[in-house]
Amino acid sequence: MAISKKIAGFLSSASWIRKMFEEGERLRAIYGADKVYDFTLGNPDVEPPAAFKEELKKLALNPVPGMHRYMSNAGYLETRRAVADALSAGHGIPFTPGHIVMTVGAGGGLNVVLKTLLDQGDEVIVLAPYFVEYKFYADNHGGRVVEVRTGPDFQPDLAALEAAITARTRAVLINSPNNPTGVVYNASCLAEMGALLERKGKELGTTIYLISDEPYAKIVYDGVEVPSVFQAYRNSILVTSHSKDLALPGERIGYIAVHPQMPDAGLLVEGLVFCNRTLGFVNAPALMQRLITGLQQEKVDIGAYREKRDLLYNTLIELGFDVVKPQGAFYLFPRSPLPDDVEFVRTAQKYNVLVVPGSGFGLPGYFRVSYCIDRQIILNARPALEALAKELGL
Ligand code: PLP
Repeated sequence: MAISKKIAGFLSSASWIRKMFEEGERLRAIYGADKVYDFTLGNPDVEPPAAFKEELKKLALNPVPGMHRYMSNAGYLETRRAVADALSAGHGIPFTPGHIVMTVGAGGGLNVVLKTLLDQGDEVIVLAPYFVEYKFYADNHGGRVVEVRTGPDFQPDLAALEAAITARTRAVLINSPNNPTGVVYNASCLAEMGALLERKGKELGTTIYLISDEPYAKIVYDGVEVPSVFQAYRNSILVTSHSKDLALPGERIGYIAVHPQMPDAGLLVEGLVFCNRTLGFVNAPALMQRLITGLQQEKVDIGAYREKRDLLYNTLIELGFDVVKPQGAFYLFPRSPLPDDVEFVRTAQKYNVLVVPGSGFGLPGYFRVSYCIDRQIILNARPALEALAKELGL
């Protein structure tokens, strides 16, 4: 076999999104793209803000000598300074460029953090439902994820989290606004989580790091603000990117920020920079670093996402689905009307409606619907969703 047994196993267990993609292609070939209601993808369907194009034009017209060369593996000083200034203002804690490492997206950043922190067999606690790549990222670096279910409305269940912590717990990895639920973890819960990790660390004689994966932090609605993880806990590490907030997922630009008051912050950053290099990323893309330096206050048109969230949420509620109203990201995570979420997904396919089963996010019994698609597709899908709801007796 051309691939390892481990990867062969991963391919068969992680094939949900791929399967749905292939199913979408098959259905589109038969019925035409406008008759297939594909709610599976998390690929932003909006354009980057106008300011991004302006920066791109400026740089193309006035190229900086040496701008395509290697730089410090942490990234350009002026880019890290711009990120540090934005974080200082946003979190009320003074960051310097020395606390920032520019990365190849949030996915690259998470791999760098996990490689830096983990020894063989270390545990990383994730709160289900969660972005399934975490499992593979932890495995990349000898770790393994321990799943802990969230509580009502998908907020963290701190008693369950406490019960899962062991002497091997190296980190808790959270994601808010969350993929797949769209839920924003609330401030009091984060503060209690910080206190819990501090207490458990002392009890066990370890340090438990809180890794906060926040690529959707600027995609929030209804005046909601994402509480600061740095205010909640000093051993926290933020990982994010501009894949969603500037709609640049193909450009692979993100960063890691380390709490300035973390004991050993300097050593951790040294480790992160080393791993950024030795994982083969070397550094984040040079051109993108220059472009996003002046764009730290910019974001995509959130109004378009909010309008689609409201349209899809209201449609699902009217048709009898049980859904928590999300405050961020661009996903909904309704309860599956059938006990078996995979059977539900297969039933939905009969109506050309494509969604991803909750099993693909570590929480069977639900399904994920993404609304980063054309508004018209959501409108066109209504009769199909109605027929599906009718078949299921909703
Ligand atoms: N984390 C979460 C929760 C995501 O949903 C995604 C992408 O969909 C990523 C990380 C990876 O983002 P990036 O494109 O910045 O690597």
